[in-house]
Amino acid sequence: MKVLITGCAGFIGSHLTEKFLKEGFYVIGMDNFLTGTPDNIAHLFGNKNFKFIHYNVVNYIYLEDKVDIVVHLACPASPVDYMHHQIHTMKVNSLGTLNTLGFAKAKGARYVFASSSEVYGSAQVHPQHEDYWGYVNPVGPRSVYDEAKRFSEALCMAYHREHKLDVRIARIFNTYGPRMRIRDGRVVPTFIEKALKGEPLPVYGDGKQTRSFCYIEDLVEGLFRLSVYEGLEGQVVNLGNPEEISILELANLIIKLTESKSGIEFLPSRPDDPPRRCPDISKAGKLLSWYPRIRLEVGLEKTVGWFRNKVV
Ligand code: UDP
Repeated sequence: MKVLITGCAGFIGSHLTEKFLKEGFYVIGMDNFLTGTPDNIAHLFGNKNFKFIHYNVVNYIYLEDKVDIVVHLACPASPVDYMHHQIHTMKVNSLGTLNTLGFAKAKGARYVFASSSEVYGSAQVHPQHEDYWGYVNPVGPRSVYDEAKRFSEALCMAYHREHKLDVRIARIFNTYGPRMRIRDGRVVPTFIEKALKGEPLPVYGDGKQTRSFCYIEDLVEGLFRLSVYEGLEGQVVNLGNPEEISILELANLIIKLTESKSGIEFLPSRPDDPPRRCPDISKAGKLLSWYPRIRLEVGLEKTVGWFRNKVV
């Protein structure tokens, strides 16, 4: 079986590529290294079941290979990155989604789209279930990501209804672990770097906003099952860890785990920063028999271990 993974050199993409290889798949990975890095996949270059194509999927995709599954992960994913690459973020989730969907249709392949909890915006219901339509500011700074993911989801469902394409949508909640870029601006790498350097941890707002963090290994297992299980055409599934924590608690936990002397620096809150985010994962449990296994403290220990030799 062959799978095409766009964004294979990113944080989630590189781990998912490894998972598919481990499960005996042939993987064609595509990336343009906008936010991903060759370091994440360098160890795979000698693998005879892995082929890398340096490519920007906003352009038309042509491959001779027979492909069974397409997973479209390519996209700047941290708020700092997508605000830095606003137009590209919108292109990869419109032109990129269109091209990869068209490619899947031409190959008769299944299509898995990496959507995001951001489609729920500043959610008015809690926890967020797949049936909730979201509360998104269409013109705010985060809209380049939120609305683009929403547009991609609509496009996936149009291909499903009109062309009977077997599409599946994963709404991925905050994920963390080794291979995140230290300075991608997301909260976990930022806090770990600051704590290891003994510098204050920057908390936006009062730190009472919550997130629910899923360890990469768990997330990848869920994504893999969503990609390979039969009978999931047209399904939208939340993937995340429902263990909710405030950002202030997270800061203190990371200070404790790193035995750091760092303090906390409160900064003005970011516009449209969702106040609470936590997935309802009952659907993933039912359809995929999936539940995250790695507790936050355990996952953070592993992540801190990985970051220790990167922080100078
Ligand atoms: N955050 C923070 N300090 C940072 C980075 C993020 O306090 O250096 C907060 C941010 O305001 C948000 C949460 O941590 O409430 C998660 O932010 P992140 O950028 O990791 O991703 P998001 O969940 O907002 O997409």
